[in-house]
Amino acid sequence: MSRGMYEVPRAYNEPVLNYEPGSPERIKLKRVIQDMKSRALDIPMIIGGKEVRTDDKRSIHPPHELKHTLGHYYMGGEEQVRLAIDAALEARAAWQEIPWDQRASIFLKAADLISGPFRAKINAATMLSQSKNIHQSEIDAACELADFFRFNVEFMVKIYRDQPISSKGVWNRTEQRPLEGFVYALTPFNFTSIAGNLPSAPALMGNVVVWKPSNTQIYSARVIMEIFKEAGLPDGVINMITVPGPVGGKVMSRHPDFVGVHFTGSTEVFKKIWKAIGENVMLHNTYPKIVGETGGKDFVVVHNTSKVQQVVTALTRGAFEYQGQKCSAASRAYIPESMWPEIKEGILRDLNSFKMGTVEDFSNFINAVIDEAAFDKITSYIKNASKDEDAEIIAGGNFDKTEGYFIEPTIILTTNPNYVTMQEEIFGPVLTIYVYEDESFDETLELVDKTSPYALTGAIFANDRFVISKAMKKLTNAAGNFYINDKPTGAVVGQQPFGGARASGTNDKSGSYLNLLRWVSPRSIKENFVPPEDYRYPFLGDDKDEEKI
Ligand code: NAD
Repeated sequence: MSRGMYEVPRAYNEPVLNYEPGSPERIKLKRVIQDMKSRALDIPMIIGGKEVRTDDKRSIHPPHELKHTLGHYYMGGEEQVRLAIDAALEARAAWQEIPWDQRASIFLKAADLISGPFRAKINAATMLSQSKNIHQSEIDAACELADFFRFNVEFMVKIYRDQPISSKGVWNRTEQRPLEGFVYALTPFNFTSIAGNLPSAPALMGNVVVWKPSNTQIYSARVIMEIFKEAGLPDGVINMITVPGPVGGKVMSRHPDFVGVHFTGSTEVFKKIWKAIGENVMLHNTYPKIVGETGGKDFVVVHNTSKVQQVVTALTRGAFEYQGQKCSAASRAYIPESMWPEIKEGILRDLNSFKMGTVEDFSNFINAVIDEAAFDKITSYIKNASKDEDAEIIAGGNFDKTEGYFIEPTIILTTNPNYVTMQEEIFGPVLTIYVYEDESFDETLELVDKTSPYALTGAIFANDRFVISKAMKKLTNAAGNFYINDKPTGAVVGQQPFGGARASGTNDKSGSYLNLLRWVSPRSIKENFVPPEDYRYPFLGDDKDEEKI
């Protein structure tokens, strides 16, 4: 029981360290990378706080150094999913009774652990297993994850504080109950922060969770579980299982106590999950919450009042950082004819200066893509573009998977605004450019809005305020995160709540209180201090009394 109206510490964005040569953070990180590479990590599932292994042992390799083995995990099946659900439900009674300030403390402590003693470890794990350079890892695994934990605590308090008015003689209250069952968190490979946030956001609101990370993020997922443990999260509140996606999805969607899925990943998988939940709706004790942030085909539309070098930098950073494997990555750009020669020169100059290779050589801007399936998918688009009449590869186009899954940053120039790579999510280092006649800006906005089923992020570059205003209006539904004179990537927790609509997700805005609202079920409580003792309202009075007045 809390005996005070506590103020939580003010949330702030974790400062990004810059890892310049000779800096203490760089020296420490290099030591931790070496240490982690010197031994293979054994990664069991964590169910009810216990380590669970199966006979199906699988190895983990850095995407940029396939011959090295980082460790092993154990592939489970239906049995482990059920065990994890049972462990979560067992932990539920105690977890939902613990006061909110105790829950807050655990996640505030987790944020400080990431910011301090675990920073190098979570960065090293993310760099090695997901092939992120140090800057990409720092802004994700260290800063964004700490931000999620700190800001979510502040958002929780904001939600709890939001109380109804009370009339005379009455006290109205709103209680934010945890959901009545278990939440299933399904996370993607590309952000360690999302992997940590999806199970922890419902847990912070008092829920119990089964978490299935992506197979290619298990190595850093293990570090997140260590942090939860060290922060004091009770056993069973978040259970981490490593099972095939469809197996977990099947058991989850058929369980009567399934109350919600917190998903980030591809549109295709999310639609399958939604369908499975719908098909089993008669089995559920409560209507499950379905929260999913999915794919993107994010645009940059350039007007001829913008500045060449600003556009060039937005495109080269926005399209190619982390090999384009961000849901928000710029993947289609619309450039006015009059600016194209200079913009082309600028982006080719930047691309020629990019170095590609392992994450341990800090001078590499580009590393490997995540796995063989991604490599094959991305390169099939490149191969087709090299043959198609309406497409021309003007930069990159080479790839090799002997040492690691390396794909050169590639630019496709198309004369067809509906070319396949203007529409479909590739999720790799491929940017497609369509050059429009300067006077066709309005028609181009129409194209931007209608070309792709996605609506996640997008950017307008212009200096003319009427143009910016027109683009904002015309593209109202084309992006859930809209940028003016900035690249479409890099949303910051607490500053630009993230999510899109159409095929890009349910737009429940992770990194905001809106997301946390999905993990509670409000109870309205009315207390009457002096209840009436006669059913008769005054209007039932006798008319004869009126005559006396
Ligand atoms: P994915 O859809 O392949 O996998 C996501 C998770 O779902 C994984 O844990 C996977 O094992 C699991 N899964 C796969 N099939 C399943 C099934 N049938 N039933 C249940 N679970 C299943 O995604 P990914 O390749 O890891 O991540 C990349 C995708 O994520 C891209 O499409 C990207 O745009 C999207 N993404 C979106 C956002 C956002 O905020 N909108 C953020 C990051 C990534």
